[in-house]
Amino acid sequence: MSTLYTLASGSSGNAMLLSQGTTHLLIDAGISCRRIVTALASLGLQPSDLSGICITHSHTDHVSGLKTLSKKHKLPIYLSHQAAEELSAKIPETAPYLRCFSTSTPFYVEDLLVQTFSVPHDAAGTVGYRIGDVGVLTDCGYVTQEMAETLFGVSLLVLESNHDVEMVQSGPYPYYLKQRVLGDDGHLSNDHAAQFAQAMVHNGAATIILAHLSQDNNTPQTALRTVCQALEVVGLRPTVEVAPRDVMSRKYETTEVLCKK
Ligand SMILES: [Zn+2]
Ligand SMILES: [Zn+2]
Repeated sequence: MSTLYTLASGSSGNAMLLSQGTTHLLIDAGISCRRIVTALASLGLQPSDLSGICITHSHTDHVSGLKTLSKKHKLPIYLSHQAAEELSAKIPETAPYLRCFSTSTPFYVEDLLVQTFSVPHDAAGTVGYRIGDVGVLTDCGYVTQEMAETLFGVSLLVLESNHDVEMVQSGPYPYYLKQRVLGDDGHLSNDHAAQFAQAMVHNGAATIILAHLSQDNNTPQTALRTVCQALEVVGLRPTVEVAPRDVMSRKYETTEVLCKK
């Protein structure tokens, strides 16, 4: 059984805590070290209880807590080679703790099997994760066959539902930013999230957590309505919730037996 909490979600910061037994992993660290330590403490954990930090990519909203976390707590940071190059240039303090992986080559952290896949986004070496029966896919321009295959059969999926396309098009962003958000290296729309959620739920996902919602081009209600309607049309009724932007989520649990070494 895995448990998952989102600690924050959106362009102002992203972090999640995934636990299986006594193994705890942080996925992204885009909020302050202090907020992460406070969130862990509320769950009876300390930074030293973490087995490491898995990073999706080097954008600030995913790594801003790493400088202090590295200095104070010296935790291993798992990330792709290309993301490591960017991160060590951006936050040199992290360099001694970087543990690079080749994207799509699985590895273990303690007894957790970690699978990764490439994600099209405007940061080098962006990845998504499958850890046991939990999937994480955010900051994604478009979905790929590799994602669908790697995430096949997950029980719980954290899925970007960044924007409503019409809100972007009619909204206040300058043209270049609209093109960035909507482009192949941008973010996943509610409609694309809905399509991917359909496939994932069809393949067994019981819970979808919609994540990384835009503050300007989306609302939790719009994202939920778009995804739930698409699922209901094909007769699927999983749990669908939105990850809170600035506070910790409720506890999510998966019930299936996870991959063992
Ligand atoms: Zn982001
Ligand atoms: Zn990003």
